[in-house]
Amino acid sequence: MSTPKILILGAGYGGLLTTLHLQKKLNYNEAEITLVNKHNYHYITTWLHEPAAGTAPADHARVPLDQIIDMNKINFVKDTVQSIQPEERTVTLDSGNVLSYDYLVIGLGSDPETFGIEGLKEYAFSIRSINAVRQIREHIEYMFAKYKNEPHRTDYLTFVVGGAGFTGIEFSGELADRIPELCQEFDVDPSLVKIYNIEAAPTALPGFDPELVSYAVDILQKKGVEFMIGTAIKQCTPEGVVLANGEEIKAATVVWAAGVRGNSIVEKSGFEVMRGRVKVDEFLRAPGYDNVFVVGDCALIFNDEGRPYPPTAQIAVQEGEALGDNLAALIRGEVMMPFKPALQGSLASLGKGEGIGMVGTKKLFGTSAALMKKASDLRYLYKIGGVGLALKKVRL
Ligand code: FAD
Ligand code: NAD
Repeated sequence: MSTPKILILGAGYGGLLTTLHLQKKLNYNEAEITLVNKHNYHYITTWLHEPAAGTAPADHARVPLDQIIDMNKINFVKDTVQSIQPEERTVTLDSGNVLSYDYLVIGLGSDPETFGIEGLKEYAFSIRSINAVRQIREHIEYMFAKYKNEPHRTDYLTFVVGGAGFTGIEFSGELADRIPELCQEFDVDPSLVKIYNIEAAPTALPGFDPELVSYAVDILQKKGVEFMIGTAIKQCTPEGVVLANGEEIKAATVVWAAGVRGNSIVEKSGFEVMRGRVKVDEFLRAPGYDNVFVVGDCALIFNDEGRPYPPTAQIAVQEGEALGDNLAALIRGEVMMPFKPALQGSLASLGKGEGIGMVGTKKLFGTSAALMKKASDLRYLYKIGGVGLALKKVRL
């Protein structure tokens, strides 16, 4: 019998943890494991709001894959997935290469959810990759430089953040922290800078604990963020945004942080999806395909009350670990274990040294939440790269 081929698409949280667990569990001759990723590095998506605002270098959120993966055991292919042909058991890459598989793992992450809102794809930025956040940071700095040459253009100093979910809140906090430094560097009067966080729902962080939400809003307001709650953005233009009530905000920088959907490649490849996500079974298999597994933001799983779990790194990691173990079992003819996430809580940063969190039933505010978030980051770094990576990357 020939060696089974396992093909993993995406080296994000889900795909990376699947790879690392397979690497640990299987011997060299038990399976041919291939990992395809756009870049030769893994990025820590949960930190991307920092380099986007410019409070941390983009490089800090990158981890070269050859530092964490045993390249003798895993065939790494740096390429972009173009399409999946599940009937033929093949994947086509941008290079034109076609890879075949016996088992497929889809971990291609998400795309921004634009809800079909006009102009977002053309004129708004999204915090979604290292390259995307480099562009946001450069653009923000360029707007300060441009303002100095066209001082009537206060829209260059106006920043709109669309959505007050966790991404919008974390980025707003980080941006507010960066503004004083930029004002000093470019000799700009800080009172001219505006950061609007615009949220369609009747509250920031809908569904989160109201006391923690109110703490977060208060901290960000004190840093200079103006919230427009219960206000939907209905259009993005080259000049800024148009709100549902018809009001226009002139802003040269719009960062869209109003949710995600599964990577469009999955839907385009013919899988049945809801908001781009495949409703997987208890073994993370795609309906109709016993050999296709989906992890992370491309997968849709439900809790006991029938409500979908939100797409988070926490769940992607757990799915990757469980799937790596299950695939090893499958290869050895052993039984697979059903997957159930064990949620540990939610932690969000509000800029340097500030945060909010809910761990079990315990609410965390300010420094204790920020420290807990650092501890959770450390745990993740240790998991993927041991003590060395944790020590190299941690920022206190
Ligand atoms: P990703 O981590 O996005 O990885 C996808 C991988 O696939 C990437 O390596 C990408 O390069 C690659 N890829 C994509 N398309 C292709 C292609 N066509 N070909 C080849 N490779 C491709 N969640 C939490 O639980 N806690 C947090 O604190 C938290 N903070 C966040 C902060 C921010 C600013 C953001 C934006 C998100 C945050 N999240 C957080 C959510 C979390 O980051 C995602 O749920 C998580 O990254 C999903 O993991 P994934 O493996 O599905 O995809
Ligand atoms: P989200 O879906 O959690 O929040 C998006 C927000 O945008 C919502 O509050 C929504 O009401 C609002 N919105 C939608 N359309 C709008 C419009 N037209 N105008 C104005 N507001 C609009 O999305 P997210 O914040 O990008 O998070 C994506 C996922 O990543 C979530 O599952 C989240 O939990 C996770 N995440 C977690 C953390 C953390 O744990 N620290 C940080 C970032 C993201």
